[in-house]
Amino acid sequence: MAKTKPGKKDLESYTIKGTNKVVRAGDCVLMRPSDSDKPPYVARVEKIESDNRNNVKVRVRWYYRPEESIGGRRQFHGAKELFLSDHYDVQSAHTIEGKCIVHSFKNYTKLENVGAEDYFCRFEYKAATGGFTPDRVAVYCKCEMPYNPDDLMVQCEGCKDWFHPSCMGMSIEQAKKLDHFLCSDCSSEDDDKRSRNSYPVSPLAEPKVEPKRRKR
Ligand SMILES: [Zn+2]
Ligand SMILES: [Zn+2]
Repeated sequence: MAKTKPGKKDLESYTIKGTNKVVRAGDCVLMRPSDSDKPPYVARVEKIESDNRNNVKVRVRWYYRPEESIGGRRQFHGAKELFLSDHYDVQSAHTIEGKCIVHSFKNYTKLENVGAEDYFCRFEYKAATGGFTPDRVAVYCKCEMPYNPDDLMVQCEGCKDWFHPSCMGMSIEQAKKLDHFLCSDCSSEDDDKRSRNSYPVSPLAEPKVEPKRRKR
């Protein structure tokens, strides 16, 4: 490994204190927040290095929770949703308290069971502006909302669109018992083709002030 600065040394891995869990560059980790009432911060480790006094530091790229974003948590955000931000930091490796897995949206929706360590990410997030990439996503159902993987949806056999039971006047229990489902458009005679719209996910407001960086 190439030396970066005098006294600094790149490390292949770091073992989380008191565990046998090994963290390498590219892994996602939970980091202890300064305020212990808060949930742990989630970050992706970019680099691990030690200084000349053997203090191990990690260069991390933060994931933001929806409530930490400028636009806040919205109805279509999943409970385990994270945004990969453009906000980097160097932290002491001692603040790492565990590892986690940040899945792609597609893989997350295929998980049989969602464990405490499972998260997903479908957006990149610009911390300064609150903007998302991609900034539009497909919408579903009559209510034209992006998919929240926490909500049960049923697929129409006609148009193949997905629907919330509540938007179709059904309970979750009724929807679970369905063998076949046709939405109200497909079960009526007129077959006008529905176009799939998209939904803007970035806040429209201009960035006014540089948002305060969170204290870590
Ligand atoms: Zn709906
Ligand atoms: Zn339909």
